[in-house]
Amino acid sequence: MKKGQAEKNAAGRGAPQELRGEPVVLGWGIGKAYMVGRAVQQQGPAVPSISREEVGGEIVRFNNIREKAHKDYQKLIQSLENTVDSSILNTYEYILDDPVFISQVVETMSVKLFDLETSIRLVSNDFIKGFEAADTPYFKERAGDVVEVCEKLVFYLNNEGGRAKTFAEPTVLVVLRTLTPTDILAYDRSKISAVITTSGGKTSHAAILARSYNIPVISGVRNITDHIKPGDEVLVDSDKGAVFVRPEKRVAEEYAKKTHGEAVYKALQSKWDRPVYTKDGIRIEVLANISLPEDVDDAVANGADGIGLVRTEYLLSNRKDMPPEEAHTAYYEAILKGGRGKHCTIRLMDIGGDKIPQFFDMPQEFNPFMGWRAIRIFLERKEIFETQISAILKAGRGHDYSIMAPMVTTLQEWIEAKAFIREVASRLGMDMPKCGVLFEVPLAIFEMGMFMREIDFASIGTNDLIQYFSAADRNNSKVNYLYNPVEPAFLRIIRSAIKTANDNGKQLSICGEMAGHPLHTVLLVGLGLRRFSVIPRNIPLIKEIISNISFAEAAASISLIDVIESTDEMLEWLKNLNNRLLGDVLKKIPYVEGAV
Ligand code: PEP
Ligand code: MG
Repeated sequence: MKKGQAEKNAAGRGAPQELRGEPVVLGWGIGKAYMVGRAVQQQGPAVPSISREEVGGEIVRFNNIREKAHKDYQKLIQSLENTVDSSILNTYEYILDDPVFISQVVETMSVKLFDLETSIRLVSNDFIKGFEAADTPYFKERAGDVVEVCEKLVFYLNNEGGRAKTFAEPTVLVVLRTLTPTDILAYDRSKISAVITTSGGKTSHAAILARSYNIPVISGVRNITDHIKPGDEVLVDSDKGAVFVRPEKRVAEEYAKKTHGEAVYKALQSKWDRPVYTKDGIRIEVLANISLPEDVDDAVANGADGIGLVRTEYLLSNRKDMPPEEAHTAYYEAILKGGRGKHCTIRLMDIGGDKIPQFFDMPQEFNPFMGWRAIRIFLERKEIFETQISAILKAGRGHDYSIMAPMVTTLQEWIEAKAFIREVASRLGMDMPKCGVLFEVPLAIFEMGMFMREIDFASIGTNDLIQYFSAADRNNSKVNYLYNPVEPAFLRIIRSAIKTANDNGKQLSICGEMAGHPLHTVLLVGLGLRRFSVIPRNIPLIKEIISNISFAEAAASISLIDVIESTDEMLEWLKNLNNRLLGDVLKKIPYVEGAV
């Protein structure tokens, strides 16, 4: 008997169970399991949810998404160009056109009045049960193919026209693959109390979004489907790396009483609605990283000194087509107006990597994070970015803002990009805005000095920089141990970049997740950083720490990074430094232990 099966039998269906995983975003949450990724499911008993008049419309939607799936599989087959066996994709296409599958879905909608998603799931479940009951491995494998096709269809449904799927009650998303940003954006966030995923690194874009929205995430949970069934009650305690499946009432009640951290956080939030200075009077700015216009309120409520990074590519999420210029303009206007006159750095769209819009004609790549991404797309498809730039320029009239380019590798790329921004500005009869570079590629940061005369400001994107520097994928929890911001050689690079910017009179921020981690604040101030850009929620925590540090003392302590040789030694030294310079301050700040 397989181990998973033995455990299942021992526990018995419905018995509480505890699973282990790695904390990715701290916190705890409880809700009903909703499987995403490779599980066909129906939550609770299906109830009629459409009227007779709506059946026709649902059938049209069904045909549209089948058509879309066909196109996607065809594109994939072409991109493989006989390099690998693509016969599995033909099987998927066969399922999409299977007359029994189609007629059963249509019948379920028209007779039982179930909506399209429910009907697809119910019919697929019947197919799967049939295949799984078969004796031959061949038929058993077909069950997996039905799951793939069903999930693809349901994905299209949930990502149509920017509508986020909502739930009737608090939900724990159980993602049976690597977590992606779409997993966070495709669902009503107010209903997502936690996420469990097979894989996903701490600085993956999905984790950054989840952290911004205060959704705990736990990753690396093994054999999830052996233990969790759709609709099960699940309690996630990411701080402890624990998942309680069907928890005892007593356990759930204990967690419900845990409000201490939140009360302290609220007090800091009210306190830090003002600028922060170190103990020796040096002003340090703490700005916000945001993705959507609604995040601006959060930034303001948390006392942001401005917006240090707008991840504008999220404007393209959950959309069927590239938005027109008016939609871009409305997005920037909402952000700039919401920012109440404070400075805002708008990053040009960082398309690619794990952020590929559904409609975007993206070639299949073996290494998407090192492939066609961000400024590389910009320089080839300028017409797309012309829309964005002219929308920013128009929305930016009368506001204090600047434009930043991501993933710049060479000075030549930046000069070409800047020339294009100037061209768009002059076509519109407008002044050239302040422009800068996000340093997140090792080559660029090593050559930072050469960029100085061509930029108005600089920012360091440690999330990507660390992954390229250490060749450790930020999305892969398996290699997290190599992904380390306090690696001695990396810190020396950061120190030298800060010095280069200071010597040249250019403002420099760090907007990667490293800057938002309270354990790094002393270190970064010691390295000379005066501008942090972090998720809104962490702003009061970082300001509280800064107010307890002396700039001169932190700087004097930092020279030791030249003699420390290993990451472990560096971590130990950093803990001692925090203790020495901050005393008990860190202990009183919530959500610190184990964070990124
Ligand atoms: C970074 O890489 O640090 C960064 C800020 O960009 P992103 O996380 O959006 O890739
Ligand atoms: Mg980046």
